[in-house]
Amino acid sequence: MHKIEASKLLKKVMSDHFIAFSDKSKKVAWCTSVGPAELLRSFGFEVYFPENHGALLGTSRLSTEFIPIASTVGYSSEICSYLTSDIGSYLSKNTPLTKNFGLDGVPKPDLLVYNTNQCREVQDWLLFYAKEFNCPIVGIQSPRHLDEVKKSDIDNVVAQMKAMIPVCEQVSENKFDLDKFKETLKLSKEATLLWKQSLETAKNIPAPISFFDSTIHMGPIVVLRGTEIAKTYYETLLKELNTYVDQKSGIIENEQTRIYWEGMPIWGKLRMTSELFASKNAAVVASTYCNSWIFDDFDENEPFESSALAYSTIFINMSEPVKFVRMKKLIEDYKINGIVFHDSKTCFNNSNSRFGLPQRLKDETGVEVLTIEGDLCDLRFFSEAQSVTKIETFIEQML
Ligand code: SF4
Repeated sequence: MHKIEASKLLKKVMSDHFIAFSDKSKKVAWCTSVGPAELLRSFGFEVYFPENHGALLGTSRLSTEFIPIASTVGYSSEICSYLTSDIGSYLSKNTPLTKNFGLDGVPKPDLLVYNTNQCREVQDWLLFYAKEFNCPIVGIQSPRHLDEVKKSDIDNVVAQMKAMIPVCEQVSENKFDLDKFKETLKLSKEATLLWKQSLETAKNIPAPISFFDSTIHMGPIVVLRGTEIAKTYYETLLKELNTYVDQKSGIIENEQTRIYWEGMPIWGKLRMTSELFASKNAAVVASTYCNSWIFDDFDENEPFESSALAYSTIFINMSEPVKFVRMKKLIEDYKINGIVFHDSKTCFNNSNSRFGLPQRLKDETGVEVLTIEGDLCDLRFFSEAQSVTKIETFIEQML
């Protein structure tokens, strides 16, 4: 058993990322978590990710205070609780970025950029800020829920990416530089492959990293992809994890069963859920959530086409039959004994238990399945006592 030492470096990397926004001379683009960050960086934008802020509000449990404030301006408390937490935080003029990193608020955007490959909510979310800041907004309307990504889909997304260029040029006051875009994409690919390898160390028994750790260590691949910093970070993390693999050291003391967590984390209960599984000797080793930032298809020689392909094939954007195949592969590759589906009340986009998938997976693979109800940020939708009992019983029946 070990603690991941790279966590110290992670803290510094994330801290530096936020503190950089105190330099007001740089242009800032806000981008959705699976938006075209590499293209934006190639124009020299500092890139800020509001979903990351939403997760921070969830982890610090400030969401509970902020969600009702978003409701007062018409955002239902049953829609994406990242969105409602973030807008509530903005309206309250209160953000943990002040206490944690000394910022006077969220960084003011010069440009807002979304991609609906994950959900339509992100567009509505950024539209709020477009009005608030009187700020230009551009985006990609991705073809959704695909069985496969066809050439026509790629052409469609590429055309939308290219249409952003004049706006990016105007706002950043920099001309588009194809070489810079290629270079950024290459760095992003290198980091994403290191992230992939880091996650895949959990195929080993015992697993040197758990889903819960990965939700923290994924920070740089979300907010810093396309930078040397992210690449260096994942080199460090991977090296450390490989040492544990060699030493057969697990992230939990006595791994007896292996779980795949499907869906989003419950940010405000991350530690509780992590300790609960560990106390039952259950290692949570796989997820599609953390895998969402693996972009194998990036190719700097075809930067537009390969970005369009990579960003369109993310798990959340695929059809249910494709999701089924990918989940089945995770079960096999990670030697999974049971799957916990988190049915997240305010994100149906990332909840895969509502159309019979758990039952079909169980029938096909024989792996035990459990669905728990909760939410990414809104703890009113999470009954802790009930969920703990369900999880404990579920694990005990597998041992
Ligand atoms: S995928 Fe879900 S959690 Fe993420 S922004 Fe969209 S609705 Fe919110």
